[in-house]
Amino acid sequence: MKVGVLALQGDFREHVSAVIECGHEAIEVRRLSELESIDSLILPGGESTTIAQLAAAFDLFEPIVARIAAGMPVYGSCAGMILLSNRILDGAEGQRTFGGLDITVRRNAFGRQVDSFESDLQFNGRTLHAIFIRAPWVEEFGPGVEVLSEAAGHPVAVRQGNLLATSFHPELTSNLEIHRYFFDEICKSV
Ligand code: GLN
Repeated sequence: MKVGVLALQGDFREHVSAVIECGHEAIEVRRLSELESIDSLILPGGESTTIAQLAAAFDLFEPIVARIAAGMPVYGSCAGMILLSNRILDGAEGQRTFGGLDITVRRNAFGRQVDSFESDLQFNGRTLHAIFIRAPWVEEFGPGVEVLSEAAGHPVAVRQGNLLATSFHPELTSNLEIHRYFFDEICKSV
């Protein structure tokens, strides 16, 4: 499977390493031809406003929206979760997202309490060590959304059809559970 990683800003290199460790081909996506060549896409952590602006500048914004609508599996971590959400609270003025997930995210939701923290979560019946960095949480979600993990009483891992999003950064740990879930449970079922 050819797994694209949007490589405009953020921690895309860590996702590329995780893709390779899981035994798949990783393609850094910066142009349309690269987007067209992939079977699935990962949106990294970073800065969601910058990634959206660069995607527009690189003529990738609408093509990514179109591929999401066409059913391509996409996983977004942290900023990537924001980019997959249909609605944002505390967004920058005029902030756009690719959308697809019927969720409302609150940006920098944990921010006032603590900027970054680590926590053990339950995911898919197992305990997972998760790193949160100025992370969003899911404030509201529609009936088609499955909550896979929670922290501080809010969903921090969600799935809707071909789309998966986490508030935290599995790419910054050696645990490949979330990536494997994406490849084995989502990519293989489409
Ligand atoms: N707060 C960032 C944003 O709004 C996300 C932080 C992250 O990806 N670690 O895009």
